[in-house]
Amino acid sequence: MHRATAGTALAAELALKNKKNFVNLGGGYHHAKRDSGGGFCYFADIPYAVNCLWKTNPNLKVMIIDLDAHQGNGHEDIFKYDKRISIFDIYCGDNYPRDFMAKQYINYDFPVKYGIMDSEYLLLLEQNLDFAIKKSKPDLIIYNAGTDIFAGDPLGRMNISKDGIIKRDEMVFKFACENLVPVCMVTSGGYSSASAEIISDSLKNLINKRYLDF
Ligand SMILES: [Zn+2]
Repeated sequence: MHRATAGTALAAELALKNKKNFVNLGGGYHHAKRDSGGGFCYFADIPYAVNCLWKTNPNLKVMIIDLDAHQGNGHEDIFKYDKRISIFDIYCGDNYPRDFMAKQYINYDFPVKYGIMDSEYLLLLEQNLDFAIKKSKPDLIIYNAGTDIFAGDPLGRMNISKDGIIKRDEMVFKFACENLVPVCMVTSGGYSSASAEIISDSLKNLINKRYLDF
């Protein structure tokens, strides 16, 4: 977790410096708060990475796109009231952590029901993400790409296919690219044995579509 946290900071720094997309194959510990862990998350890697960037770029605007199946209550709590941060979060509203205090700090808040399927989920993303990026005008996107939205995941309770996850990731990179915003992607939650292959196949697709160098 320590190394993965440093990986998120490095990927974010490289993305911003090179104006290109980078992926940390780990991180996305979005339940960790400033002084406490939660839900398998020990270090708040995303806020740590952003704070590292703010040391040299104090006006940097960052958008966190959190598409893990669970609400990203850690970064929401840490960044509350900070106008440099905008948060877009689609998650299963009845899942852990049901953090209603942190929820009020989500700028684009989309709790969804148990068992949501590809068409409804992808339409929700398509209809809202481009608008949110255009409105927030971030300098950098940190994309929390949890694969626990997968249908076979024991904790996510969503019903998205492997193909749907690949399309989801491509859509995030497409909108970011069209708006000229570099992306730092982190892999976050995923609790079925299928997650590794889904991540691998999605990254291959992003490389094939030239959103990532390899
Ligand atoms: Zn999760």
